[in-house]
Amino acid sequence: MAKHLAQSDSHELKSKTKEHARRWKEKLIHIPPESRFADTMGKLRYVAILLPPVLLFALRFLPLEGWMIPAANLIPLLLALSPILPDAFSRLLQKNPLANEILTVLAAVVLFACGLYREATLLAVFFSASTLLEGRLTEKSRERLQAVSDILPTSVSVVTENGIEERDAREVQPGELLLVEAGERIPLDGVVAEGVSTIDTASVSGQRSPWAVNEGYRVYSGCTNLTSPIKLRVTKEYEQSSAQRIVRILRDAEDFCSEQEQQARTFSSFVVLGLTACAFVAGLVLPIFRGGWLSHLCRGAVLLMAARPLADAFAIPLAYRKALALTAQMGVFSKGEDCFESTAKAATFVFDKTGTVTEGRCTVRDVVPVGMSEDQLLLIAALAESKSRHPIAQALRDAAGPLNRELVDSVRFREEPGRGVRAAVGKKLVLVGNAAFLEENDIQAQIPDRPGSAVHVAVDRRYCGYILVHDKLRRRAFDALEGLRVNGVEKLVLLTGDVLSVARPMASKLNFDMLRAELKPEDKIKALTYLMDNKGEREAIAFVGDGGHAGKIMGLSDVGIAMGSLGSDAALATADVLIMDRDIMKIPRFVEISRSAYRVSRQNLFAAVGLSLAAALFAFLGILPALWAELLCFAGSVAVLLNTQRIS
Ligand code: ADP
Ligand code: MG
Repeated sequence: MAKHLAQSDSHELKSKTKEHARRWKEKLIHIPPESRFADTMGKLRYVAILLPPVLLFALRFLPLEGWMIPAANLIPLLLALSPILPDAFSRLLQKNPLANEILTVLAAVVLFACGLYREATLLAVFFSASTLLEGRLTEKSRERLQAVSDILPTSVSVVTENGIEERDAREVQPGELLLVEAGERIPLDGVVAEGVSTIDTASVSGQRSPWAVNEGYRVYSGCTNLTSPIKLRVTKEYEQSSAQRIVRILRDAEDFCSEQEQQARTFSSFVVLGLTACAFVAGLVLPIFRGGWLSHLCRGAVLLMAARPLADAFAIPLAYRKALALTAQMGVFSKGEDCFESTAKAATFVFDKTGTVTEGRCTVRDVVPVGMSEDQLLLIAALAESKSRHPIAQALRDAAGPLNRELVDSVRFREEPGRGVRAAVGKKLVLVGNAAFLEENDIQAQIPDRPGSAVHVAVDRRYCGYILVHDKLRRRAFDALEGLRVNGVEKLVLLTGDVLSVARPMASKLNFDMLRAELKPEDKIKALTYLMDNKGEREAIAFVGDGGHAGKIMGLSDVGIAMGSLGSDAALATADVLIMDRDIMKIPRFVEISRSAYRVSRQNLFAAVGLSLAAALFAFLGILPALWAELLCFAGSVAVLLNTQRIS
């Protein structure tokens, strides 16, 4: 109960922070609008950057006197401010007086009023230049994310009694029949009702992986139908279909900011507030007592300027947004920026063996019956498992061959997770599972005389023998785990429900540091909770499980990573990071990107804070002329932007 409460608390907390983050984002952060480069404002910005310095230079050669000097200098200033003013105005309407654009306009106006014409204009030019650069550099990330969003279907061909009908994907209900031509995206999740074709998951999994389908196969929206037309019976409505859920996860992820980011924003907002207050005091209060209005006003303006890169606070989101785009492109979707942060800090990786380091596809190796033939044992086991989705069940069905449809339909069964199944086949009660499961039911299982995962079978409480199944290690499992170590992971833990004799050789082959075998699902939860309770304060733990069998355990660690998540509702709901396909090499790559993003975001933060404070201090003391302060802040913005490009 306590745990349940704690979980719902944490859930509430998560949604609260999400709300908080969203509000912050709207208030403080400067997000270039989506179509900045498409609209005329984009072009105007180029003119506003290039022309004013030329005009300023030209003005030096004109014989201007008296009122003509400020009047002439007003032209380049207005030109430089032209793309900023509308934004500043809209920030004002949003009641966000500390926004970047407003600070810039204010500082420029004050500098101009103090007679620092050149400085005023260049301030606006620098601001536009860094905004433009930011837009340019983040354009690619936006395009990448947009490419993923493009998997969303719009109109679909519905097969009706009166022929084919074009309809909006949102209006299609489960049970309706769709026609998907060769080369088209699959619009909604469904089951193939007619036709044979090849499906490619590249658009969602990031990798070309064609897979043959025919009647009865499940297919997922966002994938592409490659070779021939198929008819599809819709199983999920638009909102619940895979593509829509993936895109929703991505959108939410963009809005969700990490703990580090929130701290940084809170901190920077205080500094901005402080600097603005200082600017006010320096510019308007001090001169009341000390005179020298002009020089004081000017210092105030420089202080405002120094606050600008901080008001930006873009340093962190930039890095994580880049990471989000990079990983999404390879078919790995994370639910928020904090996933990158937790992954970067994860010193321990816990793997749930089946389907992660192993292929999760079992084959039957040996059949050892007691009091019946091998075929009989296989048949009864396969019938009992006919409705289970466990890899062992699939192996038994494959080995037994085609089953009698009527018999299968009459089977009633109950899955005992991590143990086996209990089924009524005809009038017989069949138990299929591991030795512990049979023992729980007071049936003594035989100890196998050869190594392997034994699936024991009992019919009407009588022991009938065992079947040895085998699951292969993934081809690149070793490389993937080495990749994790290279990326700073210190401890690798393997948890499994499988027997020790099978798990131990695997664990030693892959250099795991710790192995816990023969665990029931509740024991796995205990083991992970123990690790979480005993970890270092700043350290995180990642859990990697099979998306197809994702469960409560996914949510227990700092970051739950699900492999093979395509089409798994449980994975979509419970995991933090979704690897759509089963490419294990994507895990070290994800860690590499996360660590890189985390490092860069911290460097960016320190650079932005450091430069701002230095510029503010020197300007306040009157050591740093306004122009130099501007250059320093501009250099800071550019450095941050270029640094972010290192994440790749
Ligand atoms: P893993 O930790 O390898 O993912 P599970 O928790 O799924 O394993 O299952 C643990 C053990 O329970 C299996 O090795 C198997 O012996 C038994 N088991 C679980 N489900 C089934 C099933 N459907 N049929 C037979 N045995 C099963
Ligand atoms: Mg499992």
